Amino acid sequence: MLRILFHILILWPLNIASVMAATYGLINQDLFIQLVPEEHRLEGRAVLTPADGGFGLPEEFHLASQTDIVSVTATGKLVPFTFDSGLLQIPLASGASTLTITYRVRFDDPVPQDSVGIEDPSFGVTATIMPQGSFLSAASRWHPLPIGAQSRFRTTITGPPGLYGVTAGRLIDLESSETRSQAIWQTQLPQAALTLAAGYYQVGRDALGETQLLVFTSAENAALAPGYLESCREYLQLYQKLFGSYPYAKFAVVENFYPTGYGLPGWTLLGNSVIKLPFIRTTSLPHEIAHSWWGNAIEIDYQSGNWGEGLATYVADYYLKEIDSPAEALEYRRKILRDYATLINADDDMPLTAFPSRMTKRDQAIGYGKAAMVFHMLRNLIDDEAFWAGLQAAARDGLGKRYAWSDLQRHFEAASGMDLETFFRQWTGRAGAPQLQLTDVSAVPVDAGWQVSGTILQNGPIYDLAVPLRLETETQKYDQTIGLAERQNCFVFTVTDRPVSLSVDPESVMFRKLYPEELPATVNNLRASRAPLVVLASGSEDLLDASRDLLRGLQWHKASVMSEADYLAKRPVDRDLLVLGWPKNQGLRLKLPVGFAAAAQQFTVGDKIYAEADDALFIVMANHDDERVVGYFLPGSLAAARDTARRIPHYGRYSYLVFSAGRNQIKATWETESSSLKTLFEKEHFP
Ligand SMILES: [Zn+2]
Repeated sequence: MLRILFHILILWPLNIASVMAATYGLINQDLFIQLVPEEHRLEGRAVLTPADGGFGLPEEFHLASQTDIVSVTATGKLVPFTFDSGLLQIPLASGASTLTITYRVRFDDPVPQDSVGIEDPSFGVTATIMPQGSFLSAASRWHPLPIGAQSRFRTTITGPPGLYGVTAGRLIDLESSETRSQAIWQTQLPQAALTLAAGYYQVGRDALGETQLLVFTSAENAALAPGYLESCREYLQLYQKLFGSYPYAKFAVVENFYPTGYGLPGWTLLGNSVIKLPFIRTTSLPHEIAHSWWGNAIEIDYQSGNWGEGLATYVADYYLKEIDSPAEALEYRRKILRDYATLINADDDMPLTAFPSRMTKRDQAIGYGKAAMVFHMLRNLIDDEAFWAGLQAAARDGLGKRYAWSDLQRHFEAASGMDLETFFRQWTGRAGAPQLQLTDVSAVPVDAGWQVSGTILQNGPIYDLAVPLRLETETQKYDQTIGLAERQNCFVFTVTDRPVSLSVDPESVMFRKLYPEELPATVNNLRASRAPLVVLASGSEDLLDASRDLLRGLQWHKASVMSEADYLAKRPVDRDLLVLGWPKNQGLRLKLPVGFAAAAQQFTVGDKIYAEADDALFIVMANHDDERVVGYFLPGSLAAARDTARRIPHYGRYSYLVFSAGRNQIKATWETESSSLKTLFEKEHFP
């Protein structure tokens, strides 16, 4: 779905500085930042004092290498300094009671207007100061970062009238006069560095207890503020109930002037086109609020794998569906399994302990999807109460600390009284997934009714599993969970009436490797292709250029291209095909399923005929002969092709899509079922 593109990137605190934080005590930093957008520059002054009777000030700082240091004073006197390759050294600083660094620096990273095909959600921008807005990431070193110390920041941001800057901490003051504007922010938790955003914002405000709720939008999007404030309130209430008190002074939703999604401590920065997408409020927003705990206040020890994305996905994207509807929750779990099976080949799999952060959709299938399923299995194993109690303990004890998977394990063990070593080792320390099979199933009449028995096998590496089985009879459902710690185990059901079907894990509560027959062909199959081939239907040659965004979005922009005639002459094997336009030759035409029809300029889905110039069909089907997929792109015109091409890659989980005038009309996935994990008892099989 669309939101995949806007999946929010967490801007993690700068790790280098906090690792070395022990050298000096905590520092109070008063930052005065004047933004000069027309000149892409800021004028800065950092005033440092030791906090809480600390011991001395640091002598070395990181600062963007292009910075112009105007002056340095220690206890009010000018002192010498050197500044080389981004390293500022002030030999006389350590004995000073205050240190003032005055500087100016220019940032003008170009901002992309087009996000098609870019999988890196940072867009390569670390810092930029523009008339239409500013974004300064912590990594850009826009303020002096004391080496070996963390700071409590009071940040005063000034700019032209109406321009407000937002950063970490509680909002102390916000005002604008005819000559300038000002915003002041105060942090409490020690931090190494700050991220800052600025724009000509309208401000929406509310509060939940002591927590400030803030929305900063452009005038154009100001009407969105009440809805965002209501959602912030709702999700903060939910998560405080689940995890304990919210760790920051505010939560702010802030608009950015280019299409990013960033999660930061106590705020989220959403692109101007993103913030108005209706689903963001109920998808990305709760995910980011959950990250306030998981990833921000409780930091992640990357050395042992990023567990934060899986947990935020589980408690937000997944859990909110579970609250709404069990059917949607089931479908979400199935999507996770399908993504993993479709996108991950054995040679690019990795254990969760090796997942750093999302860079590609493949990483996402593991670090977000598999990890979310691991939390789901854990919750089923130790039960609801112990699961939430474990998270509460982790939120309380982990505040300001860096946590690994093993720290979470410790809290869940304490909350449940169970030894979870095997569970965590097999699910986080190993790549891959179990592969199950149902064999030797028989149903025989016995005195009281029927006895159904069989064997569950693990085909791949052995896991220690609890496998749910469901036997359905003509009148009832019987559920049983069997332990499977070895290669195989047997089961028996004794029931009173005639069995109808037996299925393994009918509710998809286990993470496992799906069989090919359980996988509908989808847009993601094209994306995962290692042998892509574009075929241009005769008479549709212009479609190649009009489909450029589609090819880029699928990572197919380097695929070879053949004409219909060449393809039919050579018939290359073992290729996934994407056919642009409707082929003239029968040999290349799709065998469409029942309910579909297509011709050169029109197509039918169900009982609706699409014959307008702005209609487009995209359909992906499995080629059962060679386990390859074939996609067809059938736009009503070149304009429809151009308009639709960039949208299709965002619908990765779907098998067919219909667009009219650039708007999605139909998105659907083929129905599938596994024959290896389900047995149907036919009536005639019984005596
Ligand atoms: Zn996330």
